[in-house]
Amino acid sequence: MDSSTFNSYLQSTGITDKRVLEAFLKVPRTEFVLTKDIYRAYEDIPLPIGEGQTISQPSLVAQMTQELKLKGNEKVLEIGTGSGYQAGLLSHLANKVYTIERISSLANHARLIFKKLGYKNIKVVTGDGTKGLKKYAPYHAIIVTAGARDIPQQLIKQLKKGGRIVIPVGKSPADQILQVGVKRHGELKIYDIEPVKFVPLIGKFGWSK
Ligand code: SAH
Repeated sequence: MDSSTFNSYLQSTGITDKRVLEAFLKVPRTEFVLTKDIYRAYEDIPLPIGEGQTISQPSLVAQMTQELKLKGNEKVLEIGTGSGYQAGLLSHLANKVYTIERISSLANHARLIFKKLGYKNIKVVTGDGTKGLKKYAPYHAIIVTAGARDIPQQLIKQLKKGGRIVIPVGKSPADQILQVGVKRHGELKIYDIEPVKFVPLIGKFGWSK
């Protein structure tokens, strides 16, 4: 699939937000996958990104991105930088992107790609994202791209009024559901979207391994 066919494919999976579709045209997925998988970069499949981690299939990345309902002026926090692909998309959709990764080799690699592609509004932080990133809080939107045990309180605290969080949650790593939370009157109203499968969110307010 080339990138424009890829775009009509994403529309067929329910992606209607024009800005999200445009961002997918701008960010080369080929730069974020392993060299051996470049030929599969535009297939709708999850791919390995090294260190035992994976990047989700593009239709799921698109759906999670669309759920953030970004207009362009927001400050967004991502937990789980991984390859950097999701953050690259967000950099076209928001004003400033903060992204946290616990594995320093992945964080460093993502920084290099952002430099190469000229993405200047992304800040990569190495650390435990289950605590959020208080220094730059509050955020208009938070996206977690690893499977959590529950929604960490710190993340709810660091969300602005009316802000949205998208997060896979499950009692076991094999039993996850994608949830969207909207912060209203200091509380989170939670909507279930669909069953998903993500690598575990490991940290103080996540899984222990
Ligand atoms: N969004 C990524 C894919 C993420 S895979 C992309 O576009 O490529 C999930 C990532 O979350 C992994 O890289 C994993 O190391 C990271 N992760 C897991 N627990 C974390 C935590 N507590 N804080 C930050 N990153 C974490």
